[in-house]
Amino acid sequence: MEERGSPDGDPARSLEQGPEGPETPIQVVLRVRPMSAAELRRGQQSVLHCSGTRTLQVSPPGGGPEVAFHFGAVLDGARTQEDVFRACGVRRLGELALRGFSCTVFTFGQTGSGKTYTLTGPPPQGEGVPVPPSLAGIMQRTFAWLLDRVQHLGAPVTLRASYLEIYNEQVRDLLSLGSPRPLPVRWNKTRGFYAEQLRVVEFGSLEALMELLQMGLSRRRSSAHALNQASSRSHALLTLYISRQAAQQMPPVEPGEPPVGGKLCFVDLAGSEKVAASGSRGELMLEANSINRSLLALGHCISLLLDPQRKQSHIPFRDSKLTKLLADSLGGRGVTLMVACVSPSAQCLPETLSTLRYASRAQRVTTRPQAPKSSVAKHPQRLETEMLQLQEENHRLQSQLDQLDCKGLSGSRVAWAQRNLYKMLQEFMLENERLRKEKSQLQSSRDLARNEQRILAQQVRELERRLLSACHRRQPGPGLAPSCPCLMAPAPPCHALPPLCSCPCCHVCPLCQVPLAHWACLPRERHLSQVLGPEASGGRPPSARPPPWAPPCSPGSAKCPRERSHSDWTQIRVLAEMVTEEEVVPSAPPLPVRPPSTSPGLRGGAGVPNLAQRLEALRDQIGSSLRRGRSQPPCSKGLRSPSQVLPPH
Ligand code: ADP
Ligand code: MG
Repeated sequence: MEERGSPDGDPARSLEQGPEGPETPIQVVLRVRPMSAAELRRGQQSVLHCSGTRTLQVSPPGGGPEVAFHFGAVLDGARTQEDVFRACGVRRLGELALRGFSCTVFTFGQTGSGKTYTLTGPPPQGEGVPVPPSLAGIMQRTFAWLLDRVQHLGAPVTLRASYLEIYNEQVRDLLSLGSPRPLPVRWNKTRGFYAEQLRVVEFGSLEALMELLQMGLSRRRSSAHALNQASSRSHALLTLYISRQAAQQMPPVEPGEPPVGGKLCFVDLAGSEKVAASGSRGELMLEANSINRSLLALGHCISLLLDPQRKQSHIPFRDSKLTKLLADSLGGRGVTLMVACVSPSAQCLPETLSTLRYASRAQRVTTRPQAPKSSVAKHPQRLETEMLQLQEENHRLQSQLDQLDCKGLSGSRVAWAQRNLYKMLQEFMLENERLRKEKSQLQSSRDLARNEQRILAQQVRELERRLLSACHRRQPGPGLAPSCPCLMAPAPPCHALPPLCSCPCCHVCPLCQVPLAHWACLPRERHLSQVLGPEASGGRPPSARPPPWAPPCSPGSAKCPRERSHSDWTQIRVLAEMVTEEEVVPSAPPLPVRPPSTSPGLRGGAGVPNLAQRLEALRDQIGSSLRRGRSQPPCSKGLRSPSQVLPPH
C-alpha cells in the first residue's frame, strides 16, 4: 500500500515551503469495512472490489456498469488496523505537526460504515475495559507512535490534549472537570474558529493520553439503532497540541490564545443516516436531523471549495459548528487527511456511492499549509519588531533633539547677539550723545575763540592807530597842526568799533574825541553770556573765568596761566595813557595766555597767540619809542609802520 503524495513525489518537502508554498490537496483514503455477520446472514452481497491499492470498483447489483473510484489508498476489509494506520499517511501528518503545522484527520461515511472503529477501534466492551491492542484504531496507534517519536527527538516537547463533541449543534467539553456544558465558538484572526473555555490538558505519557481518550469516549453520546448498536450521535474532535519546547520555557499564554506549536486533530464524524433505514424515533430522529444538517453544511462547503473561483466565493463555514471548527482544515492553512469509510453491502450502495463521490471531490480540495510561528521563531521576530520600533523611535527622538538643540543654540546665539547688539547700540547712542555734546561745546568754544580773536584784533588795530597817532603828534611838522587820524583819509574805522565796555572812555573816540553816545555798549557780562550761555558764566566774573579751551588750572599752581598778569595790563594801560594822556581803564577781557611749557591747546582760536605776540611787539615798540622820546627828539626817520614791527601772521 502506497501513500498518496504530491505531484513532485515529496509532499513533506513541498509542505515545508510555508505559507507561500504550493496548495496541497486533501488526502483521501478509502477504507471498506468487512461484511458484518448480520449482513452475511441476511444474504447481502458485496458490490465493492479493490483493484490495486488505489482503485475501487463498484459493481452494481443486476449487472449494471462498473464504476471506478481512485484514492490515495484503498483499504478493503482484509486490512488490519495496523495496515490502515501505516497506509493512511497519518504518520506524515504527525511529522508535520511536530514541525508546527496544523493537521487534521477525519473520518467520513454513513452510519455504521466503520468510522469510529477506524479511529478508535471497536466500542468498549465494558466500563474500564480497554480496547485490545490489535484492534486499536488510528488514534491510539498515532498516540503511541507520536510519544515514541517525541522521546527520540532529544528535544523538549510539550503535549496537551483537548476533546470535545458537537451534539445537536452544541459544543461540549468531553474533558471538563464537571458535567459537560455548552461552549461558545469564537473566532479571531490568529486562531480562526475555536471553542472558548475548552479545557486543554497537558500529558506526559501514553497512558495519560489513553485515559483522556477513554474519558472522552465514555462521555460521548452514542445510541443504538437498526444500523449500529453503538452509533455515535455527535461529532467528536480530539486535538493534540505539540510544542517543541519545555513548558517552563514557553511564554505565558494569554487567555483565549492557542497553545503555540503544531496541532493534530482527530475528527470522528457522526454518520449520515436515513431515518427510515435507521428507524430513529424521538430523540434519535432529532439527533439524526442535526447530524445530517451539519454533514450537509460540510458537503456544501466542500462543493464550494471545489469551485476554481472559490477565492471570490463565500464559503459558508458559519452554517454549522462542525464547518466552523473544520474551516481551517478544509480551506485554510492546515494539512488534512480524510478517511472515507464505506460498507460493502449492496443494501448500502446508494450511501456508499454518495460517500465515494463525495470523497472523490474532496480530493480536489486544496489547502495552503502554513506552519504556525513557533515560540522560538516568534520570539525573535517580536524582538526584532520591537527593536525596529525602538530604533525608529530613537531616530525620531534624536531628530527632535537635534532640532531642539539647533533651535535652542541658534536661539541662544540670537538672544546673545541681540543682547550684545542692544548693549552696543546703547553704548553707541551714549557715545553719540556725548560726542554731540562735545561737538556743541567745541563749536561754542570755537565761536567764543573767534569772538575773542576778533575783539583782540580790534584792540590790536586800535592800539596800532593810537600808536600811529602818538607818533604823528610827537613828530614836529612845519606849521602843521597835528591832525586826528579820524579825519584823515581813509578814515580809521574807529567809529565802527563797538565800545568795549560801559566806561565813558569807550564812548569817546580815543583819537578824535568824538562822542560815541549812539553806541549801545552792552555790559561786558552780557557780551560774554551771549557767547558762552548762562551756564558758562558760572557766577564768576568773566575776567576770572577761564575760557573753555583753556587747560584745567591746577589748584596748586601759583597763578592760573589763563589770567594775564597784572603787569601786562599795567603796561597796556600805561601805553594807553601815554597815547591819550588820560587814565585808561582796561576794558578788554583777560587774554588767554598759553602756558610756556604747554603745547597749543587752543581749538578754533589759532590766531590768538599771534595777536598776543603782536601785542608784545607793539608794547616793545611803544616802549622803545618812549625811551627815544625821552632821550632824544623824535625823528620821523626810521619810523616804521606798525605792520612792519608786527610779526607776520
Ligand atoms: P460508524 O462510526 O461509522 O457509525 P462504527 O465504527 O461504529 O461505525 O462501526 C459499526 C460497527 O461495525 C461496529 O460494531 C464495528 O465494530 C464494526 N466495524 C466497523 N469497521 C470494522 C472493521 N474494519 N472490522 C471489523 N468490524 C468493524
Ligand atoms: Mg461512529
